[in-house]
Amino acid sequence: MDEIVSLCKRRGFIFQSSEIYGGLAGAWDYGPLGVEMKNNIKRTWWKTIVQERDDMVGMDAAILMHPQVWVASGHVETFADPMVDCRNCQGRFRADEIEENRCPNCGAVGQFTEARMFNLLFKTFAGPVEDEASVVYLRPETAQGMFVNFENVLTSTRRKLPFGIAQIGKSFRNEVNPRHFIFRTREFEQMEIEFFVRPEEAPRWHEYWMQERVRWYTDLGVRPEYLRLTAHAPEDLAHYAAACSDVEYLFPMGWLELEGIANRRDFDLQQHSKESGVTLSYFDEEKGEHVVPFIIEPSAGVDRPLLAFIVDAYREEEVRGEKRVLLKLDARLAPIKAAVLPLSRNEKLVPTAREVWAMLRPHFMTSYDDAQSIGRRYRRQDEIGTPFCVTVDFDTLEDRAVTIRERDSMEQVRVPVSGLVEALRERLPPC
Ligand code: ATP
Repeated sequence: MDEIVSLCKRRGFIFQSSEIYGGLAGAWDYGPLGVEMKNNIKRTWWKTIVQERDDMVGMDAAILMHPQVWVASGHVETFADPMVDCRNCQGRFRADEIEENRCPNCGAVGQFTEARMFNLLFKTFAGPVEDEASVVYLRPETAQGMFVNFENVLTSTRRKLPFGIAQIGKSFRNEVNPRHFIFRTREFEQMEIEFFVRPEEAPRWHEYWMQERVRWYTDLGVRPEYLRLTAHAPEDLAHYAAACSDVEYLFPMGWLELEGIANRRDFDLQQHSKESGVTLSYFDEEKGEHVVPFIIEPSAGVDRPLLAFIVDAYREEEVRGEKRVLLKLDARLAPIKAAVLPLSRNEKLVPTAREVWAMLRPHFMTSYDDAQSIGRRYRRQDEIGTPFCVTVDFDTLEDRAVTIRERDSMEQVRVPVSGLVEALRERLPPC
């Protein structure tokens, strides 16, 4: 993990939030490469989930919602973690993460206070008056924005069951112990699906989505033996769920959740119907009856999968007696698709190299690097997962051709500059 955290900072994937002020626990900033990769993850998810399916629509709800939403959902009352304090060092921890009654900070054993419940909702005020009536919450999940818009989506899109709504956006949880780099933070992004089905079909769709979601990760190159599905024991289920399984990844710190796939029953639609007085149900024309759909919810983070993709792609190899660090990222996720590298800073080469770069920029996310030896520059691109390097050399000035070097095999092919965009397009899956 240390190698990865350091690579992320050094190469501009992820920085500590407000670092010059000493940082803020549980918040991280995505740098120039990180934002590209994060956007690629979201775009790929959106493409698979919304664009390529005939039973899904997208939406983008506000982060701030009517406070009653969180009463109906159960968050105001029950969205809490058990918290203990260490009497020795005054550290505060999640009780369910303590092992053998030992303080993770100072090592003292048996020094914890009784567990108290701590609500994870971030509270703030809407408008100029800071009183109880103006309390609003930063959403702790994107899901509720889709439940409360069920009727709006249904009538505006005339969908029939089964169908889903998908959404990507920020969520906030006042986690007791943010940790493991970007794994557990107080501000994070989620990619959530609410899939509405007839109640009797819920178990089948739950199974379907479990398989489908694991397939998304393996399709993007994650090694299958590092992924598993773990079903929650009945006593560990959230109050609304009939069943839930997590997609877990084997991080250096152990098996940890990337996303949860829950059968939420009709809990949310029933609750919002009750609290708002607006009936949220579906009229099944074929059967001539009203049903309150059950909901299957595949709920993924963006940050945790991003960390898993990087961890999974990280390789150290030896090439001709030298260490090569490689991010074997799927090309769809790679922040930079192609780097243009003039063989040297020779003044005859630079104009052509810049011309080649300008030609590629409208088509792909690219970069240009002319500092240090060509070998060092290949290594720098390998380390950030760039699938292709395009080298402009002295022959280019004569034959108007460049060399494409592939990251994993390091194989090189010569292609004419006029066919370069096409040659890269053939090698890069659409994203
Ligand atoms: P955990 O048990 O790890 O706290 P959770 O089961 O509460 O997670 P869910 O409510 O199922 O998480 O949220 C769905 C997804 O949102 C998680 O699988 C994860 O990818 C992401 N997520 C949730 N909380 C955080 C967080 N604090 N930091 C980063 N990502 C998070």
